[in-house]
Amino acid sequence: MNALPPQPPRAPSSRLKRRNPLVALKPPLVPPFARSRAAQGLTAAAALGVFALQRCEKCGAAQYPPRDACVQCLSPRLRWRPAEGTGELLSETLIRHGQELYFRERAPWRVGLVRLDCGPSAIVALHGDCAPAPSRLRLRLALDKSGQALMIALPEKDTPDMAEDPLVRETTCAPRARKVLVTDAKTKVGRAMVEALVAAGADLVWAGYAAPWKPSPHLEALGALEGVSLVPLDVTDESSVRELAGSIGGKVDILVNTAEYHRPGSIASRGGVATARTEMEVNYFGLLRLSQSFMAALKARAADGPASATAWVNILSVHALSNDPAHGTFSASKAAAFSLAQALRADLQASGIRVINVFPGSIDDEWNARVAPPKLSPAALAKAVVEALERGLEDVYPGEVAKDVMARFLENPKALERELAG
Ligand SMILES: [Zn+2]
Repeated sequence: MNALPPQPPRAPSSRLKRRNPLVALKPPLVPPFARSRAAQGLTAAAALGVFALQRCEKCGAAQYPPRDACVQCLSPRLRWRPAEGTGELLSETLIRHGQELYFRERAPWRVGLVRLDCGPSAIVALHGDCAPAPSRLRLRLALDKSGQALMIALPEKDTPDMAEDPLVRETTCAPRARKVLVTDAKTKVGRAMVEALVAAGADLVWAGYAAPWKPSPHLEALGALEGVSLVPLDVTDESSVRELAGSIGGKVDILVNTAEYHRPGSIASRGGVATARTEMEVNYFGLLRLSQSFMAALKARAADGPASATAWVNILSVHALSNDPAHGTFSASKAAAFSLAQALRADLQASGIRVINVFPGSIDDEWNARVAPPKLSPAALAKAVVEALERGLEDVYPGEVAKDVMARFLENPKALERELAG
């Protein structure tokens, strides 16, 4: 099952230099975590990949940095609104020293004063390809290694290899040149995920499969792909998870948990708890088993040079936020997994490993055959995951349905509960 055709060596340019395995690992170092409550609004926007600033509802002024009152009129009525992320670099400097060890180790820092087109000025970290002042640039809210928002400036137009800049590499989790584990490659989603990661330049993708006695056309096709290695993994079996972590755990840079059990139906439509129990076994306890076995190894390699361990992706469901009664027990198992993923995120934060939670609506697979379109294709879901890794996002709502449910949830969770019940 594991036999792969001999693979030609890759061109050196497509690989990053890996660490000498005989040299001891560095402990991960993250920037300061503390932020004011107002500043968490920036982090929430960065987690979604949106550029947003506080806007005063009384006088209309946009402001930065975030505060509790408007700097123009002192009104406390401030709302987070998407803003134009463009501006002009007025001046820049090179900072060669810092009080914090994290900054000191990465010095010098290229830092600039930028006047945003929407009003305020900001001091931001500059991408290496930004032209000297005065020049136009794009601003982005990125998440730093401690998971907090950092305003960075990118050149106005894309430049070749701009993703290789240390500032971008530090704030994103691109799969390029990294080794990725996909936990269940037997499903349509798992297969699409493996293919998308290979296309994004992953160095190696381990494709996990359970129940080897069940034939799977997806798996056979994947096994023939260059850069893919099939590995036995059953997330419902503790010893299977531990065994795989023992053999490859120390090499995994990104873990994408696609393992999912889903049977549609309302609570009343079936007797007993067997189906609900299996959903919990895979969707909730599966994540817990993976966490217990793989977390320590990922944490240890969080500072392992340019191809360090970097991210953990969970495919949840937008109905983890609010239950869809037509998929009642499935939604409940995903809500449990979401809660656990928050604990996982808190635990991995100190090491700088990003936990990316993905909340799709109905996926176009056999278990949603009776759900009316629009449904999210497995390929679109996989594309959204790769994009989230490349942009360094934390919360992903792929597709129109997921975005709509999330917006309704934020606006009025009670109304959404009633609407889903109807
Ligand atoms: Zn105001």
